[in-house]
Amino acid sequence: FFITFEGGEGSGKTTQIARLARHLEAQGRIVVTTREPGGSPGADAIRHIILSGAAEELGPEVEAILFAAARADHVAAVVRPALERGEVVLCDRFHDSTRVYQFLDSSLDRHLMKRLEQAATAGLYPDLTIILDVPAGIGAERARERRKGDTADRFEKEDEALHERRREAFLDIAAEEPDRCVVVDGTRPEGVVATEIAAIVDDRLEA
Ligand code: C5P
Ligand code: MG
Repeated sequence: FFITFEGGEGSGKTTQIARLARHLEAQGRIVVTTREPGGSPGADAIRHIILSGAAEELGPEVEAILFAAARADHVAAVVRPALERGEVVLCDRFHDSTRVYQFLDSSLDRHLMKRLEQAATAGLYPDLTIILDVPAGIGAERARERRKGDTADRFEKEDEALHERRREAFLDIAAEEPDRCVVVDGTRPEGVVATEIAAIVDDRLEA
């Protein structure tokens, strides 16, 4: 069973994945937690390039191809093998992040998006996607808090209006694919959000 977590910066994806993993492990399930970009040695090497300043020289098309390349390796090396072993895979960001981050108001056409998505996933899509929804301002504040003195990477210098449009784009995806996606209000206390997610997932796993 393949579950992805999506949402903006500071929406709580990483925290909630850790909590859900503990919940599922307590049921005796084997859980693999992973994240993108990265999640496998090959994909982590590509992540390094993507997050570096050098990537700013590359342009949106090459950037999208790099994200797809990282995903292709991650799916082949980690996600698919774990699913074939019958494990539950929890992934911090997946193809929806590419739809939102690489393709929202970029000049790149939708055909490229579809072709790269197909190449990267080889048709492997999440069974369930939890979209953690928080207003951009709250997400940015949490991210600032978490970073403290660390320098921001190149993706973290963006303005609130852009983050808000990304939030809308995640909600649009959820509306288009209601069977796959569940929107969870991420502004509530961590434990409340975790309880709701655990109930959603237990329900799907039993079905
Ligand atoms: O998940 P996390 O927020 O740590 O992701 C690291 C950065 O990579 C984010 O700031 C996000 O803006 C960026 N990203 C992206 N495209 C993706 C996934 C992540 O631009 N497909
Ligand atoms: Mg995170």
